[in-house]
Amino acid sequence: MKNILVVGGGFAGVQSAIELAKEKKFSVTLLSDRDYLFLYPISIWIPTGEKKFKDVALPLSEISKAHGFSLIKDKVESISAAANTVICTQNSYQYDYLVIATGAAKIQHKGMGNTLSICGNPEVSLDIKNRLDTLIQKKHGKIAIGFGGNPKDKSAVRGGPAFELMFNIHNLLKKKGIRQNFELTFFAPMESPGERMGQKSLSMLDALFKSYNIGKMFGKKITEFAPGAVIFEDGSQLESDLILFIPASTGADFLSNSDIPLTDSGFVKIDDTCQVSGSANIYAVGDAAAIKGPAWIAKQGHIAEIMGRIAAQNIVATENGILRKSTYPPHLNILCIMDTGNGAAFVYRDSKYAFAIPMPGLGHWLKRGWGQYAKLTKKGLFPRLPGL
Ligand SMILES: Cc1cc2nc3c(=O)[nH]c(=O)nc-3n(C[C@H](O)[C@H](O)[C@H](O)COP(=O)(O)OP(=O)(O)OC[C@H]3O[C@@H](n4cnc5c(N)ncnc54)[C@H](O)[C@@H]3O)c2cc1C
Repeated sequence: MKNILVVGGGFAGVQSAIELAKEKKFSVTLLSDRDYLFLYPISIWIPTGEKKFKDVALPLSEISKAHGFSLIKDKVESISAAANTVICTQNSYQYDYLVIATGAAKIQHKGMGNTLSICGNPEVSLDIKNRLDTLIQKKHGKIAIGFGGNPKDKSAVRGGPAFELMFNIHNLLKKKGIRQNFELTFFAPMESPGERMGQKSLSMLDALFKSYNIGKMFGKKITEFAPGAVIFEDGSQLESDLILFIPASTGADFLSNSDIPLTDSGFVKIDDTCQVSGSANIYAVGDAAAIKGPAWIAKQGHIAEIMGRIAAQNIVATENGILRKSTYPPHLNILCIMDTGNGAAFVYRDSKYAFAIPMPGLGHWLKRGWGQYAKLTKKGLFPRLPGL
């Protein structure tokens, strides 16, 4: 029986493991340094108190039990492709096939310790909640939210959750009747943050910034984060009691200790079938992999799942002697429900279309519904709907 090791228990790795376990003819193991799948898209509600941490962290044991794969909690330190071995903190593991799904690391900026990110270590969402609660108790303050760029890989920039967090904080403060005592400012080094979602989304974002009275500091390169201020290249600064910043992604450190081909940005080089360049038995999927596609493409959760599925299909095809393989580029798009706390917008972009449909009220509940759906399907309690 072929031994397949999937490393990384996020959307990409979990999807690969689920698909591979369906085959029943492999021994499938999911190895991750966390024992839960963190549902990042709904984690934006932890700081505002709408969700508890446990609502967003789904134990991997429940998923592995439902789908029939093994689970190991360990941390990858390096990969030896030459020896078909993954070296971890506690043990080393051999494989016949390996799927790398360990997500991405974050670009480090000077003074990052003065910021908190909703897109990094899941526990930080609780720190953001504590800091926000303190400001709410004081009933006044300045909050700056922004995201950074990665000039070497535009797909590694994540702005959506920064917008969502800003709008949710606005609506929370408004509900508490103290919004007028707070200064909210959005900052980003690009002239038009959110541009990759298309012109309609940009116009919609602009309208929201105006109606929510959120300040904008766009097109200014960030030099460093000081205690209580974001410092920009032109010498100006943005004072803030709470700086929430999403750095762009880069490749994980352990990959540079491994004999795996990487891009300049440290992401794993793959072909259209998600197979690691130059390797016959290693695949890389999700945020860990270098995605090829149009200039607007972004690393997203649903793309991670599609890649996870495609890697699994191609491993099965290889084992069955089928030469024709599945490819991920035809599936690339931007798809998200951008939440505002009291509604949302449905944002879509592919090579033909780009639109944003405002969904006041309903959109928020749709995103909450997606959270329930994601949990139920992962636990095998509800069938996966086509395309979702
Ligand atoms: C706040 C937020 C909101 C988002 N909203 C949306 C959205 O609305 N729609 C959307 O499509 N996408 C969204 N995204 C993006 C989406 O969550 C990511 O693209 C997705 O999580 C990528 O999945 P992944 O499995 O590749 O990586 P990850 O989810 O990062 O998972 C990586 C896994 O690998 C494990 N790991 C890492 N390093 C090691 C190691 N050395 N050893 C062992 N295990 C390791 C981690 O513990 C984790 O389990 C959002 C992201 C964030 C942060």
